[in-house]
Amino acid sequence: MATKRHVIVGAGTAGLNAIRTLRQAGDKGEIALVSAEAPYSRMVLPYYLDQSITEAHTATVSPATLDKWGVTRYFGRRAVALNTKANKLRLDDDQELEYDNLLIATGSSAARPRIKGADDPSLYTFWTLDDAKGVNQTIGPQTHTVVVGAGFIAFTILNGLIGRSKNLTIVESESRILPRMVDGTGAKIMEDWLKARGVKIRTGARLTAIEKKGAQHLLKFKSGPSISADLVVMATGIHTNLGWLKGSGVKIKAAILVDDQMRSNIPNVFAAGDVAEGKNLITGVKEVHAIEPTAMEHGRVAGANMAGKKVGYPGSLLINMVGVAGLDLASFGDWDAKKADVITGLAPERSAYRKYLFKGDRMIGAIMAGPSQETWSDNDLGMVKGLVQTGARLGGWKKFLAAHPFGIKKPYLATRTVSSLLPKTVLGQPSLPPQV
Ligand SMILES: Cc1cc2nc3c(=O)[nH]c(=O)nc-3n(C[C@H](O)[C@H](O)[C@H](O)COP(=O)(O)OP(=O)(O)OC[C@H]3O[C@@H](n4cnc5c(N)ncnc54)[C@H](O)[C@@H]3O)c2cc1C
Repeated sequence: MATKRHVIVGAGTAGLNAIRTLRQAGDKGEIALVSAEAPYSRMVLPYYLDQSITEAHTATVSPATLDKWGVTRYFGRRAVALNTKANKLRLDDDQELEYDNLLIATGSSAARPRIKGADDPSLYTFWTLDDAKGVNQTIGPQTHTVVVGAGFIAFTILNGLIGRSKNLTIVESESRILPRMVDGTGAKIMEDWLKARGVKIRTGARLTAIEKKGAQHLLKFKSGPSISADLVVMATGIHTNLGWLKGSGVKIKAAILVDDQMRSNIPNVFAAGDVAEGKNLITGVKEVHAIEPTAMEHGRVAGANMAGKKVGYPGSLLINMVGVAGLDLASFGDWDAKKADVITGLAPERSAYRKYLFKGDRMIGAIMAGPSQETWSDNDLGMVKGLVQTGARLGGWKKFLAAHPFGIKKPYLATRTVSSLLPKTVLGQPSLPPQV
C-alpha cells in the first residue's frame, strides 16, 4: 500500500498532539505541518507576562523532535483554500499540497470590539506571543492598565498585570465579571477579593470609543466618566480561524461539526481544538470548548483515527480555572444546568464557595472558589473535577455533601473515583510525558 500523506494545518496544541499520536500509533506516513506561527503554547503566555518564564519556555516542541517525527514544516505560511474534491490544500504563496488525510487545527484569534478606535495598533489584545511581547515592553510599575472585558482570558493575565503595575482597572459591559464562567455568587467573591487588593472594577460599562491623546488612550462609555489609560488590553472574545474554508464543502455551524472520531462531513478531513464543534462529555450536545484540554484530547483522537485506528471520543469536559492574587475560582461541566439538584456552601468570611449540580446521584457540574492555599492544599479542585469527569455515583454521599459542602474528600475516596482516572492514552497504552 502506498504511504499515506497527512497534512496538518496549525501547529498549536491540537495539531501537535495529532502528530505525536500518529507516530505513537506507529504510522509511517508522510507528515506536512503548515502553520502561520511556529509552535508555542498560548496557555503559558500569562507566565511569560509575569516573568516567571522566558520566551524559550513557551515553545512546545523542538526542531529535533519534529525531525525525529519526520515532519516537513511550512512555518510562517497560511492555508488559504481547500479543494476537498481534488484533496488539495492551497497555501498563501499558491503552493499546493496534496493529501490523503487533512487535519484542520487552526485555532482562534482575538476579536476586537466593534467601536471607533479599537483597531489602533497601539491597543493590545492578548492571544499571541507577539501580543505578549508588546504588552511586556509597554508595561511598567507606574502604568495605568485598563483591561476591557472580564471573561476567562482577561482573568488568566490579571496576575501578570497586577505583578507588573499597581494601577489596574477592569471594565466589563455586562452587570458582573466572568458572566460565562461562574454564577453571581462566585463572581462577587472574586470581585470583592480584587477590590480589597486595589483593583478597580467597573461593570455595566458599555464602551463606545477609544481615542488617542498623545501617549494616552481615552476610553469613552455610553454613560459615566471616561477613563484615561497608558496601556489598554482588550480581552473581548475570540473567533475561530475558519474563513479560509469558504467554498470547501466542509460543514461549519459555530465551528466545524465533527463526529466521535473527529471527522468532518468529508471523511478524510478531520478537525480538532478550538475549530471543532464536538461532543460535550456531560450533555452530549455539540459545542465549541476553546480550552487546552479539549484541544489536546481532540488532537490525540484525530491523530489515532488518521493512523487508521478506530478510536471514539466520549466528549470534552468544560473546565475553567483561574487563580488571581491568591484566590482560585473554577467551574466544571454543566455548571449552569437549568434542571439540576443543587447543593451549595458559602463561607464569605474566608471567601470560600461550593456549588454542586446533580442529576440523580451523579455530579454533572460544579463551581468552586477559595483562597489558593485552601483549595489547592486539599486538592479540592482536582477531586471535584474527577467526580464530574467520571460521573461517579455518589449514592448516600450526596446527602453527606448537603450537610458538609466543603468535605469533598470523603465522597471522593469512598467512590474510588481515582481508580477510574488511571492514566491511559487513546491508543490504550500507559501515558508517557510528552517529548519536547
Ligand atoms: C493568554 C491565554 C491563556 C490561556 N489560558 C488557558 C488556560 O489556562 N486553560 C485552558 O484550558 N486554555 C487556555 N487558553 C486557551 C488555549 O490556549 C486554546 O484553547 C488552545 O491553544 C487551542 O488550541 P488549538 O490547537 O485549537 O489552537 P491554537 O493553539 O490557537 O493553534 C492554532 C495554530 O494554527 C495556526 N493558524 C491559524 N490560521 C492558520 C491558517 N490559515 N493557516 C495555517 N496556520 C494557521 C496558528 O498560527 C496556530 O499556530 C489560553 C489562551 C490564551 C491566549
